[in-house]
Amino acid sequence: MIMKVRKAKVKPTEKIKSDLRDEWELTFNTVPDLMMILDTEHRILRVNKAMADRLELKPEQCIGVHCYEVAHGLLHHHGFCPHALTCQDNREHSVEVHEPRLGGDFLISATPIFDGGKLIGSIHIARDITERKKMEQVKDEFISMVSHELKTPLTVIIGALSTAMDERVPAEEARELLNDAVTHAGILANLVDNLLELSRQQSGRLIIQTQPTDVRELTKNVLQKLKNKSYVHQLVDNIPRTLPPASAESIRVERIIYNLVDNAIKYSPNGGKVKVSARQDGDYLVVGVSDQGPGISPDDQAKLFQSFERLGAAVKGSIQGTGLGLRVCLILVEAHGGKIWVESEKGKGSTFLFTLPVAKG
Ligand code: ADP
Repeated sequence: MIMKVRKAKVKPTEKIKSDLRDEWELTFNTVPDLMMILDTEHRILRVNKAMADRLELKPEQCIGVHCYEVAHGLLHHHGFCPHALTCQDNREHSVEVHEPRLGGDFLISATPIFDGGKLIGSIHIARDITERKKMEQVKDEFISMVSHELKTPLTVIIGALSTAMDERVPAEEARELLNDAVTHAGILANLVDNLLELSRQQSGRLIIQTQPTDVRELTKNVLQKLKNKSYVHQLVDNIPRTLPPASAESIRVERIIYNLVDNAIKYSPNGGKVKVSARQDGDYLVVGVSDQGPGISPDDQAKLFQSFERLGAAVKGSIQGTGLGLRVCLILVEAHGGKIWVESEKGKGSTFLFTLPVAKG
């Protein structure tokens, strides 16, 4: 006997409704934001997978529970709870909060849900903004550090110039004060130049115009500019006259060498030799700046060229800086098609090395 199997008839509208429900369910559980649907009494009607995972609960364990209990471990809602505000005035509200129980910073918003014009609850969405907050904090700290770094030489310059202008100050002393002002104006200009290079690179406006460049000549300029910065260091130029020219932009190479020599002086406070050397290695020149300072541990070496990285507890406290110099060196060296690295051993000084292409012909 042939049996006729009758297919259950699904009305088209019900099929559409069920498809929509499935799609909605899929979307609700796929979005990375933490979502809940709450009634006006703060009870959870639905949670998505991201929220349940963050609470380390199954979605069904959250249903009917007050959101402030599971999300914040409280017996009553927070004063800043956007859902509470939405229930008061039927409007959307959002707030940024640090929420340790959810493991970070969140932008939480509550959007009212109406049924026949009556408020029946809200869609509560928490977006993880921990990374953005961290970046904001780094930026704030950086601005404060840079302001401080700008202010220090500026204070010296103003003080030195105003004293030098006093007619009672002997000529010899006035000259020394003017020298001080020039040295600190150089420090200020270098900091501003580094900031400009960083900003050019971040906005994609860093353009290098290369031409045959005499690294020996540039090194002499740098050592001349920095010679008054320390009386306990001996600045040595160890570059052979026979060194071929680099294919580079001179002002940029001068900046790299300046940053490295400046660091070598700063971070070897007990003095010693700061030596700039260079040699040819195939199609590249290898330029090195060495010091007899405290050296850098292998762990710290790995972090050196990251943005705004300042290392060593003692260094952070006692030696001023912005953590910008090496980052700018890396940006400029790479823009020339070269590489930069450090060779160092704790207690035995450091040598920063970088390469530049040799000028052809
Ligand atoms: P800043 O000098 O403003 O802190 P840099 O980017 O130039 O920034 O240097 C980053 C960090 O690298 C410094 O804070 C310091 O810890 C370390 N460093 C740089 N040069 C040397 C050096 N020659 N010897 C030891 N540590 C150094």
